[in-house]
Amino acid sequence: MTSVWWIRRDARLADNPALLAAQEDGPAAAVFAWSRGVHLWSGRRRAHLARALWSLREDTGGVVGVRRGDPADAILAVAREHDARTVFAAREASPAGIRAQDAVAAALEVDGRELRLVGTPYAVAPGRVVKGDGTEYKVFTPFSHAWREHGWHAPAEHADPGGFARVESDVDLDQAAAHGDADDLLAERHEFREERVLAAWDDYVAGDLARYATERDRPDLDSTSHLSVPLAYGQIHPRTVLAATAAVRGEAARRLESELAWREFHADVLFRHPSAQHESLTPALPDDAWATGAEADEAFMAWRDGRTGFPLVDAGMRQLAATGTMHNRVRMVVASFLVKDLHLPWQRGASYFRRALLDYDHAQNQLNWQWVAGTGRDAAPFFRIFNPTSQAERYDPERRYVERWVAEVDTPAYPAPMVDHAAERAVALADLKRGKEAR
Ligand code: FAD
Repeated sequence: MTSVWWIRRDARLADNPALLAAQEDGPAAAVFAWSRGVHLWSGRRRAHLARALWSLREDTGGVVGVRRGDPADAILAVAREHDARTVFAAREASPAGIRAQDAVAAALEVDGRELRLVGTPYAVAPGRVVKGDGTEYKVFTPFSHAWREHGWHAPAEHADPGGFARVESDVDLDQAAAHGDADDLLAERHEFREERVLAAWDDYVAGDLARYATERDRPDLDSTSHLSVPLAYGQIHPRTVLAATAAVRGEAARRLESELAWREFHADVLFRHPSAQHESLTPALPDDAWATGAEADEAFMAWRDGRTGFPLVDAGMRQLAATGTMHNRVRMVVASFLVKDLHLPWQRGASYFRRALLDYDHAQNQLNWQWVAGTGRDAAPFFRIFNPTSQAERYDPERRYVERWVAEVDTPAYPAPMVDHAAERAVALADLKRGKEAR
């Protein structure tokens, strides 16, 4: 009996419990629903996704299907074509992911079929890590201890690349994968073939991981794992990563595990508080604190285009525009600058990141923005305001990162700082005080 594997954020053969379940009784009919989902909002992400699916299709004898349309329609159609009673898929925990899986389950049910959710894109499913009394952890550190204690399964076996039934496609992946800036980008760094992703991770474990604990905050040294892109598309599962870090141990491995714990914490927070995707969990400022009007729009555009006159901010924003990624330290600095120097709401920056990031992940983006803005669960306090000049001196001491992205930084063509950081910091702190008094 054929089952359907609904491909979601998990275009991979390694460590994929939903796929293994679908293959249990014979070849699986695998299909991806090419809808207006998050990745299709951005040409860059669409291209990367198309390449990831293309790679999966190549690895499975060319039979994986990609169908245009909402998942409820596309998945039901494939289930009918293959007379499949059961569709297997990984469980998502974001508001949009839950909506999609509820809609697919409902469409299948009225047709006498069933959706079975197996596994998630996390080591521990969001909602599972709880205190002794069953309530959620609100603070990251105890969450991360409990998360480690909860533990996770060892990676599942590799799926059978020959165990697929042919599904016809109506999306031209070659065309979808052709996107100008994605070509340079992918050539530069981001692997889209699963075997290359896994090989790059193995190389990292054997090499640069050793530098991670001491150099991870340095945008000039490029010593982080670059896992966020394959994790966002599901070409590697965090269990696979955690199995490797457990095997090597040591300070660097431990540190990387802790960053993955942030990924799981944010997914957990969004699962429990779906409104956190758009609204501040704990608003810090009064509503009238935010800049509005034409001046605010101009300030936003200067930030977006890397013309603020603060070299580290501009380097980060230009790196983002050119490559779709930005170093974590610099993401924190540019986000703090938008909220606390330009007095623009975090949602505005988050929505630009949503268009620009190759590693866009809804929970990670929205909740990291809330972390910087001081409005999230266990966020940095609002009064922690990054100084873009001293951050640059500390984390890019030889200015290699800045000079790479802002070639004209030392010439008259480079703009003067658009604001006085000390003065804007004082405004932000005064707003915070007003916000506290108002509550
Ligand atoms: P490494 O330092 O090698 O970390 C390994 C993995 O740990 C990462 O791939 C990621 O999965 C996880 N991780 C690391 N830092 C964080 C963090 N702060 N929060 C959650 N997980 C983390 N990450 C995304 O994957 N998608 C996003 O859309 C995203 N938006 C962000 C927006 C802002 C404003 C900020 C401050 C951070 C954002 N991050 C996001 C987190 C982080 O910047 C990236 O995960 C990291 O830079 C990716 O590079 P790397 O894979 O080399 O990270």
